[in-house]
Amino acid sequence: MRRIMTHCRALGFQRALVCTGPGNTLDCKIVVVGGGTAGCAAAAALSQKFPEQVAIVEPAIVHHNQPMWTLVGAGIKRLEETRRAMAAVLPSQAQWVRSSLKEVCPERNFLVTTDMQRINYDYLVMACGLSIDYSAIKGLPDALATPYVSTNYSPTLCAKTWDCLQRLESGNAVFTYPTGPVKCGGAGQKITYMAEDYFRTTGKRDNITVTYNTALPRIFGAAYYADALEPMCAQRGIQVNLGLDLVEVRSASREAVFKKVGAIEGLMEVVQTYDFLHVVPKQAPHAFLKDSDLVDSTGFVDVNPSTLQHSKHQNVFALGDCSNLPTSKTAAAVSAQLPVLLQSLQAVIEEREPMAVYNGYTSCPITTRKGKVMMCEFDYQGMPCETFPGLDQRKESKLMWFVKTVALPYSYWNILLKGWAPWRQIPRRISQIGKPNTP
Ligand SMILES: Cc1cc2nc3c(=O)[nH]c(=O)nc-3n(C[C@H](O)[C@H](O)[C@H](O)COP(=O)(O)OP(=O)(O)OC[C@H]3O[C@@H](n4cnc5c(N)ncnc54)[C@H](O)[C@@H]3O)c2cc1C
Repeated sequence: MRRIMTHCRALGFQRALVCTGPGNTLDCKIVVVGGGTAGCAAAAALSQKFPEQVAIVEPAIVHHNQPMWTLVGAGIKRLEETRRAMAAVLPSQAQWVRSSLKEVCPERNFLVTTDMQRINYDYLVMACGLSIDYSAIKGLPDALATPYVSTNYSPTLCAKTWDCLQRLESGNAVFTYPTGPVKCGGAGQKITYMAEDYFRTTGKRDNITVTYNTALPRIFGAAYYADALEPMCAQRGIQVNLGLDLVEVRSASREAVFKKVGAIEGLMEVVQTYDFLHVVPKQAPHAFLKDSDLVDSTGFVDVNPSTLQHSKHQNVFALGDCSNLPTSKTAAAVSAQLPVLLQSLQAVIEEREPMAVYNGYTSCPITTRKGKVMMCEFDYQGMPCETFPGLDQRKESKLMWFVKTVALPYSYWNILLKGWAPWRQIPRRISQIGKPNTP
């Protein structure tokens, strides 16, 4: 592999190198599957330690900063700011195999890509995210083509959300959150609050009802923050309906059909008409992993929640959305998982028992209105695990707005994707002095 990369450099490739082709066989020390948030960060860190011994399997040519899509949907950022060429963000010391994983054979330490390249590895890092299934909600694909329905979960649609909000003068604005696994559990309500604030500040609020229908039993998974969010919704006149799961969108009549969670099939249906509908689509583990020996019964890669090492295959690890780590799936979680992954992998390479511990740290900066954010940070137990000393993070804050809109986008591109996990640890460690729950 080292020889191929040297050859590519001689040809003038400076950034992530694409050097393989259909039918090839590649041997490498570490393979990272996926070049999104988790894969890019992991590959960057690992290739600094093991230059030219890391390969990344990633089919996409564009890398998206997904946490910024909420800001695009609310008219705060431009879509162009959320994307960069994959070749520019993947680490130059690693080899980019521009293809998709087809199947893995963890018993024999190789994987096969969709264009039939075989890659033999010593260590495997799974970071291929999850899959969004628009058709799991009846009528949604057609509805998304109408001017009244949008979702911030798609790079091609998040800008449409802002167009819809601007166009809406009166009627019902309905926002949803589904059952099942979801990346960024707060994204559905972030856009609800930003929309409500926009309607209020533009004088349209009296003519628009704002409804947030969530399939969950509370507005937010971590009770500590739910306790602050629920009264805020009540105070702002946002109608919150719990235990409602969107199952169908009838675009001809502009009706959203919800099923009460736990109700018997066909019973307890709630139908709401909408003038704007924001949908958080159903999400699921990738189908290509379904029959592999890597996943648990839910279809996510089965790893130890502390060490991120695979439960059966000691040379396999996972981080990010594709893993079955029982925490909220976020880029912030990836930033806390990364140093643990690096330590666990290093331990296995040195034939030691992995000892590093990930405590489930995750973060959800809830944009409560333009200029204000409630910075929710919590662990596996949903207990607060906060970074900023002396600040009540349940209060809406201007400083946290700055963190969400300026500091985090900057650190996403320039720190996290560079694999500089320790950078995140330093301010957190300092701020956590004297506080419990340090990850
Ligand atoms: C609207 C929205 C708002 C969000 N807001 C926040 C927020 O405020 N804060 C926060 O921390 N997080 C937020 N997130 C969540 C965050 O973006 C994700 O949790 C994070 O990107 C997960 O990283 P990942 O690498 O696991 O998955 P991804 O970044 O999705 O990357 C997966 C990669 O795997 C690749 N892949 C897919 N199939 C294959 C295959 N067969 N072979 C090889 N590669 C494959 C994909 O092309 C992709 O590049 C938000 C997400 C959304 C959608």
